[in-house]
Amino acid sequence: MPDRTDVVVIGAGVIGLSCARELAGAGVAVTVLDAAPAVGRGSSALANGGIRAQFTTEVNIAFSRFSILQLETLERTVGDLGLHQTGYLLLAGAEASERMLREAAELQRGLGVRTRWLDPAEIASMVPFVRTDGLRGGTFHARDGFLDPAGLVAALLADARAKGATIVTSVAVSAIEPGFVVRHPDGDLRADAVVNAAGTGARAVARLLGSDVPVEPVRRNLAHVMDPSSAGGLTPMTVDVDTGVLVRREPAGGWVVAYADPDDPPGWDTAVDPAFLPALAARLPNRFPSILELPIDPSHCWAGLYPETPDHHAIVGEDPAVPGLFHCVGFGGHGLMHAPAAGRAIAELVALGRSETFDLRPLRPSRFVEGDLVVESAVL
Ligand SMILES: Cc1cc2nc3c(=O)[nH]c(=O)nc-3n(C[C@H](O)[C@H](O)[C@H](O)COP(=O)(O)OP(=O)(O)OC[C@H]3O[C@@H](n4cnc5c(N)ncnc54)[C@H](O)[C@@H]3O)c2cc1C
Repeated sequence: MPDRTDVVVIGAGVIGLSCARELAGAGVAVTVLDAAPAVGRGSSALANGGIRAQFTTEVNIAFSRFSILQLETLERTVGDLGLHQTGYLLLAGAEASERMLREAAELQRGLGVRTRWLDPAEIASMVPFVRTDGLRGGTFHARDGFLDPAGLVAALLADARAKGATIVTSVAVSAIEPGFVVRHPDGDLRADAVVNAAGTGARAVARLLGSDVPVEPVRRNLAHVMDPSSAGGLTPMTVDVDTGVLVRREPAGGWVVAYADPDDPPGWDTAVDPAFLPALAARLPNRFPSILELPIDPSHCWAGLYPETPDHHAIVGEDPAVPGLFHCVGFGGHGLMHAPAAGRAIAELVALGRSETFDLRPLRPSRFVEGDLVVESAVL
């Protein structure tokens, strides 16, 4: 552990590791501290691994475009991310879902994303397990897909270290003096800047410096469903927009099935929600009746926490009240897929004082007190 660094990053999930990798790549001395005994043990360890450019706001689409390209490059040059570009297929049966998807696809295409509208016949041949009764169509983007979260953590860690970042685990940050002096059980670490990348711990870290960020933990549940007949071919991440259920095949066989209740309150409980399986049973028949016929073993379900914000956008920027404190938090259900962009944005903010790659205005920390929010509605 050094006693002085240019930048200290608090949190070694995908976001903190990506910030460290980009900062080190820009020639900044960076030290990452994480309370857990190993990196990537927070939300990053529990994710579905989905990556998509199919969002409804410009900033999220820009983050996805940048990140997908970076993930493709990381997979080729650094390590096996378990990246499968199966595409995301979003299905609409209801008129409102169709309208939302068509509008979003138009925005995406305008920003250079090759999202296509598929009719029910094209969908039936791409995903024969989908019930197409009453289906109006859907959107598909072939460079979407999924990756192995542990593979992404390992690749970011390896590359951050190769670029010169110092990563220290089992160090919980519980006090920071302005200026900055980060107090930890083994001594003090002085730094010119602090990056808050503490995931669901973001609010507690901000409060150490008398600030605040509205990041709340919200439980999300997943199931792995065994299916002896499904070994082999992968499928797109297939989303029933009418019910919010999404399914994909696992490379090792079976299905990963997810459903997030938009009305779930914030909380720290990570036991699987007893309401999860009944909610799936009620919704699977709409588009995925064959999956409902498979036995779901409750011990093959798990839950983790999204670091959520009120507008479903991350918070990326310098704290208005604490110069030198940069937040990179609140990535909700898209932190894995946006980690490369998040790291680049922070490195540019710290090194140049502004981002050259992104318009970060919609993500600025002050937007909540200003009441100037743009809401992302493609939240899964
Ligand atoms: C069930 C589920 C499914 C998901 N599916 C997807 C998906 O398909 N695609 C996608 O892109 N995203 C998905 N996500 C979201 C994604 O996992 C998160 O957005 C992402 O992992 C956030 O990364 P992070 O680095 O900010 O947080 P974390 O991974 O939680 O890392 C934060 C780190 O900060 C450390 N920390 C906190 N406080 C302190 C402190 N005081 N001192 C030192 N260290 C501290 C913690 O120990 C932790 O390691 C999913 C999440 C869940 C739960």
